[in-house]
Amino acid sequence: MLTVKDLHVYYGAIHALKGISLEVQQGEIVTLIGANGAGKTTTLHTLSGLIKPKSGEIRFQDQDIAGKAAQKIVAMGMSQVPEGRRIFANMSVLENLELGAFLRKDKDGIKEDMEKVFTRFPRLKERTSQLAGTLSGGEQQMLAMGRALMSRPKLMLLDEPSMGLAPLLVQEIFAIIKEINKTGTTILLVEQNAHMALSIAHKAYVLETGKIVLSGPAKELAESEEVKKAYLGG
Ligand code: ATP
Repeated sequence: MLTVKDLHVYYGAIHALKGISLEVQQGEIVTLIGANGAGKTTTLHTLSGLIKPKSGEIRFQDQDIAGKAAQKIVAMGMSQVPEGRRIFANMSVLENLELGAFLRKDKDGIKEDMEKVFTRFPRLKERTSQLAGTLSGGEQQMLAMGRALMSRPKLMLLDEPSMGLAPLLVQEIFAIIKEINKTGTTILLVEQNAHMALSIAHKAYVLETGKIVLSGPAKELAESEEVKKAYLGG
């Protein structure tokens, strides 16, 4: 579904991604783990069209999308849930969700997906008219995920969904990610919480200072000494 080959990204003189290659197959949960500043967010932003790569290939659904406009990429079925949620604080929950469907014209489909989001996130249904900025951190994460689902993505990019959430909520969010995947959405998950990410992913990549240093089935990586030492607290 997604193939990335030798991707290079610069911020001015800073060489942030130094030849990233990865693959996501339809139906998978793939996770990209790594420390602060390794380049995880940069990778997602480049895939979703927010940053233009200097070189390299990004193929999504058999089309070359490197450097394409973000809006076109969303329309093709790739949708990002950004780090820090980035919900529209002064708009209601309902308005935030409607914005997620802004490229769609199929009114019946939008209505159907709105119902699905409310079934998946009952807490959002109870709060449709509440201003999004007044939601709790966990609810904001749910809203950001719901908003992305409203574009009916084939591939969902999730950037640090566990950030700033209490352990119980992290578990709840990860259970929801698993469910979203089970109902047919492929997932690329960026996480600093390697333990949680490896527990739900099929495949994993470890990123260090702009390079993939390890990859393989998530179960195997979770048991590798290197990963245990560096990312799982020994
Ligand atoms: P974090 O978990 O802290 O978000 P990350 O793995 O997502 O880390 P990135 O945010 O992708 O890492 O950053 C990769 C590198 O690029 C870092 O060295 C960072 O300082 C640099 N960088 C990121 N954004 C910019 C920017 N807008 N301008 C200059 N350098 C940047």
